[in-house]
Amino acid sequence: MRAVRREHTTPELVVRRVLHAAGWRFRLHKRSLPGSPDIVLRKHGVAIFVHGCFWHRHPECRYASIPKTRQEYWLPKFAANVERDARKKVELEELGWKVLVVWECETRNLAALEERLRREIS
Ligand SMILES: [Zn+2]
Repeated sequence: MRAVRREHTTPELVVRRVLHAAGWRFRLHKRSLPGSPDIVLRKHGVAIFVHGCFWHRHPECRYASIPKTRQEYWLPKFAANVERDARKKVELEELGWKVLVVWECETRNLAALEERLRREIS
């Protein structure tokens, strides 16, 4: 089940714009890598996923609420996404990549996002 990965979503475009403005070079949607990361900075060994807070269950985020109805539908979906994200992260790390997750809500504050990326991409 991987219906939740949409490409070129707005939060992803925001991250790309920040990276570009900071002068980092990157590639998109590397299908040859586990989980096909949204953004890859090969020179820095960094793979980035831009995750929607709701679908990927951003911990303690107000955008990651649990619907009150049809929980028998939502909960297994959420669990599968979280499990898959964790598995792909491990697979990438075993290949030597540093994995960053940028949450959708982080793309609402460009200054903080850029500061975080500068800190984590070396
Ligand atoms: Zn969030």
